[in-house]
Amino acid sequence: ARERYVAAHPRSRALHEAARQVMPGGNTRSVLSYGPFPIAMERGEDCRLWDVDGHGYLDLCGEYTAGLFGHSEPRIHAAVQAAMARGLNLAAVGAAEGELASLLCARFPSIDLVRFTNSGTEGNLMALTAARAFTGRDMIMAFRGGYHGGVLLFSLNGPAPVTVPFPFLMADYNDTAGAVAAIRAHADRLAAVIVEPMLGSGGCIPARPDFLAALREATREVGALLVFDEVMTSRMSGGGMQEQLGITPDLTTLGKYVAGGMSFGAFGGRAEVMALFDGRLPHAGTFNNNVLSMAAGRVAMGAIFTPEVAQALFGRGEAMRAALNETLARAGTAMHFSGIGSMATVQFRPAPIERPFVQTEREEALRELFFLDMAAAGIYMARRGMAALSLPVAEADLDRFVATVGEFAQARGALLP
Ligand code: PMP
Repeated sequence: ARERYVAAHPRSRALHEAARQVMPGGNTRSVLSYGPFPIAMERGEDCRLWDVDGHGYLDLCGEYTAGLFGHSEPRIHAAVQAAMARGLNLAAVGAAEGELASLLCARFPSIDLVRFTNSGTEGNLMALTAARAFTGRDMIMAFRGGYHGGVLLFSLNGPAPVTVPFPFLMADYNDTAGAVAAIRAHADRLAAVIVEPMLGSGGCIPARPDFLAALREATREVGALLVFDEVMTSRMSGGGMQEQLGITPDLTTLGKYVAGGMSFGAFGGRAEVMALFDGRLPHAGTFNNNVLSMAAGRVAMGAIFTPEVAQALFGRGEAMRAALNETLARAGTAMHFSGIGSMATVQFRPAPIERPFVQTEREEALRELFFLDMAAAGIYMARRGMAALSLPVAEADLDRFVATVGEFAQARGALLP
């Protein structure tokens, strides 16, 4: 499969070789550093992509959830073009900024007040900074296998990475008793607990609702803040997973699709915490309110990804995963897709998966094989085997995906668990 991939992508390979001379790893996103070399894309339209080697793909990567609107949503293009026509770098506030903020405050139960950043990473760094300032404490609890952006990557089997800017206390995802005990043991030092309601890059592993509810209760008990990183999961309903579960954190971070595909991040929450930024805490950033993100976000969240559309997308994702898993079960393999709603990740071990896990070498190899086989069949997924549906994906596309996964299970059956 590797040889076929190498032979089919000579231009991607040449671009990678050239880029490696000037960029360590050959590009600037760790997630795109995979072997033998990443596919270089030339253009996209709706939910289709074309690579520099002349192949077309159904795009199920969905830019790791940021590509919710596809590549050519006309209302987003119109909003961006209109913003461009009015001038790019005005060094001033504008109408769209406040209107996008209003939309987000109205939708997410925990968000009374909100501020914008350029990325989810920055949103999380700012939320944690706010929690530390508000509580006067220094320590943050995070979960092994969690991902909160660039430097905020927490491995499964090591201590907190040295690159993170705060002292971190690590706990195990979905281990309610362990997390609650650790929160209580560090009651006087703990500023915040940060958690993804579903592990995204950690493998589309949903938190158990009772786990999140226990975090809510224990943080309240010790006076620490609960931060939901909804950078990926906010798409699950009009008001994110917090609305769906009826669990309201103190702070929430957003990112990815919210600005219609322009770069974006946000952090928001309880008014008394966010009020720190009313002069007491600095939060600057040249591009925080850049006119492209603000204009695209206003139309994306105001007119396109309404709560009804969010609900419908969630249902389509659930139906897709059910069809995939039915097909795989019929093929007699334990291979399946984890996740909820419009996010799914392939797994090569029996369901259900409740905890993040270190992949075996065999699983690593199957994950690569799956990516290569899907690419050869014209389906572009995240290298780790994650699919994030975008709005333009049609029923026929999903049928094709399910059929292609079924063919993979037949063709590679002897290798599968
Ligand atoms: N949090 C989560 C849950 C994420 O999945 C990501 C990005 N994959 C981030 C934060 C960071 O967002 P960004 O890449 O925009 O910095």
